[in-house]
Amino acid sequence: MIVDYHMHLQDPDEQIDHTVEAVERYVEKAVERGIDEIGFTEHYYYFEQSRALWDQQFMLDRCVYDLDPYVAAVVEAKDRGLPVKLGLEVDYVPGRERETADVLAPYPWDFLLGSVHYVDGFPVDQEPGLVEKLGANEGWRRYFVWLRNAARSGLFDSLSHPDLVKHHGPSADAEVAGWLHEETADAIEAAGICVEVSSAGLHKPVGELYPDPLLLEACRARGVPITLASDAHVPQNVGRDFDRAIAHARAAGYETVTIFEGRARRQEALG
Ligand SMILES: [Zn+2]
Ligand SMILES: [Zn+2]
Repeated sequence: MIVDYHMHLQDPDEQIDHTVEAVERYVEKAVERGIDEIGFTEHYYYFEQSRALWDQQFMLDRCVYDLDPYVAAVVEAKDRGLPVKLGLEVDYVPGRERETADVLAPYPWDFLLGSVHYVDGFPVDQEPGLVEKLGANEGWRRYFVWLRNAARSGLFDSLSHPDLVKHHGPSADAEVAGWLHEETADAIEAAGICVEVSSAGLHKPVGELYPDPLLLEACRARGVPITLASDAHVPQNVGRDFDRAIAHARAAGYETVTIFEGRARRQEALG
């Protein structure tokens, strides 16, 4: 099976479009590309229900949508028999786990992605970012502390673009990166959640898949399952570069991919 479990609902002009018609456009592209199932994972910070959690202007400026129509559009598409799942890409905010859980609780999620886009007020994938401000080793160290805490929070089913910190480069020293990868794989294993293999990084300055092969191999060695992701923001990017993402997973030893339904997961043969 091939599934794409990370995408954002926009119309072809890249405007937010939380409607069944928008869902259908993504499904059409998925069918064309041989993707069996897709999961929508809009940013949590787009929804006004989450406003109290944010202090970044970038997020507050976008925090203007109602969560209910988004959920309703995906649920209706599911009810019509389309191969879609309801997810959300949720920014992890340390110390606010209870509030995050309370806002999310009423909705019928199939899975929740945990993301770290900001660390101690520094953006991870925007300029000037965490690594630029703190240097590669310290930026990486802090990013992975947050990611491990996101894993341990119990809020999430999979971690999005798990080494997003490499987005702009430069990388931490090989030795530092090595132990950060090992510690992070330990935390993900202990949390009992999945890690995302994402093709999105191929189109970012780093030009690499997420995560690094060594982090993915460390996860594989511990039996951590994977989800697959394009992080598409327009229908034409659904399943983009999945041949490379699947080869990346296979190279690390993966033979299955995770399917979610109502936050319960199972494994299916990959490909
Ligand atoms: Zn993201
Ligand atoms: Zn995303």
